[in-house]
Parts: sequence; C-alpha cells; structure tokens
Amino acid sequence: MYDVTIKRSFSAAHVLEEVGGGCEELHGHNFLVEVTASARDLNPQGLAVDFRVLKRWTEEAIAALDHKYLNDVEYFKASSPSSENIARYIYEQLQDKARNEPFSISLVTVWESESSRVGYRTDHHD
Ligand SMILES: [Zn+2]
Repeated sequence: MYDVTIKRSFSAAHVLEEVGGGCEELHGHNFLVEVTASARDLNPQGLAVDFRVLKRWTEEAIAALDHKYLNDVEYFKASSPSSENIARYIYEQLQDKARNEPFSISLVTVWESESSRVGYRTDHHD
C-alpha cells in the first residue's frame, strides 16, 4: 500500500457551544489540513496518487470554509464546527471525488494549533 499525503491550510472562526472555557467565545484558527490517500498499485507513470490532484481537491473542499464563520456554514448547522466535524466534512468531500479512482482517502487530519490535531477515517477499505 502506498500512502500519499498533502497539506493545505485555511483560516476560519467558530464558536463551540457548551464545551467550557474560551472555546465558547468567538475565536479563530489557522487550520492545517493533511490529507492522505492510499493506493495498492502505481499507475503507468509510477505514481500512486498525483499530489496535484489531491491538493486541488482539498482546496476545493476547504474553499467553502476559508475565511468563514463556520457556525453559519450549512454542514455545521446540524453538527458543531469542531475540528472533528471539520475533518469529517473534508473527508466526505474528498472520498466522494475519489469514488471512481484507483485510490481511496484513508485519513484527514485537522490541526487547530501546533499541538492539537484530530484525524478522521472510516474503517471500510477494499
Ligand atoms: Zn476553536
């Protein structure tokens, strides 16, 4: 199995309800997003996943979040805009794009500070 990982970042604000402390106040983060895609085989060019494709897809997914107040983004009206749910949102967007590709999205990690990150993945891999 080959794992290919790219990084992208975005800035956004949020409020987390009922978690206590400063998180309940309006505040922002420079989120760092790492996306890993995994493939069993290489294509004829010797690549598992093209970095450029993965970066473009990630940018498309985070464009809906960048410089936004996340509590107002439709996806987060049903689920709090925590780093956990942000990771799941990005994962779902990318997995949908990868549906017909010979690779799958294996992990999305969202860093909300240099010392705190959340990873999201699903269990089903073929
Ligand atoms: Zn926060």
